[in-house]
Amino acid sequence: MSGYEYKIDESLDENKGNQNSGANSSGQNYKNRSKSIWSWDEKGNVKVVEICYNSILNKCSYEAEGCSRLHSDLHFHWQISKQDSEWINLPKPLVIELEVAYCDPNNDGIDLSKVEIKKLSEISDILGTPSWKLNFDTFLLKSEKKSIHSRRLCTEKIVGKKLPSNKYIWYFLDEKERWIEYGKYDSQTHFGSETNSEHIEFEFKKYLSNNRKNTMLFQYQMMTYCIDFDSMNQTNLKSQVKRKVRRRPEIDVKYKY
Ligand SMILES: [Zn+2]
Repeated sequence: MSGYEYKIDESLDENKGNQNSGANSSGQNYKNRSKSIWSWDEKGNVKVVEICYNSILNKCSYEAEGCSRLHSDLHFHWQISKQDSEWINLPKPLVIELEVAYCDPNNDGIDLSKVEIKKLSEISDILGTPSWKLNFDTFLLKSEKKSIHSRRLCTEKIVGKKLPSNKYIWYFLDEKERWIEYGKYDSQTHFGSETNSEHIEFEFKKYLSNNRKNTMLFQYQMMTYCIDFDSMNQTNLKSQVKRKVRRRPEIDVKYKY
């Protein structure tokens, strides 16, 4: 799999959501539990790698005892980690900058030297140098000598709520090096498709949940195409022509330039 999607344990009980106390789930241990982790706290380890929907509305019932999800005032957040274990929250201005860049399929990554890291003391200790590049396909943040991990969190899906942060759009790279959204007919390439983002996302979620079937097929103009979720490529099964595929969130209109 691509490595940037984190599985969600749906069976997790919110009441057992504290990862630091080491306590069992009985009520008497509540006093040992730490409070919920907010996106502006430096350390960002959470049991469920998602933003708590209710925290945005300031009404999470588990705020006091420690919610299993990250609390935030935005529906998305970004974190970095040296060892993939201790996650550090990035500050809001940088989070917004990363999110806007990530939502655009034309961006392979973002050059962090353009962001004013010097002012961001809590992450400058880790980053240490201004020349970092974040690759949006691998989620690796690299400088000349070092490589650290990053991850994106967003609000969980809530029935009846349509949030850009957790709505993903699927694109393929056409022969003119343009990222075309699946399901959108393109008058210049004449390559539309009979699948769309919603359908591919459905198949992708199945792949993430059982990690077995890493491909899906779809038809277009008598041709059969195969999308491989491991390599993030699409192959025309007859011609064997391969195209790159990308999955990016829909941008929140508030941040659309
Ligand atoms: Zn919460």
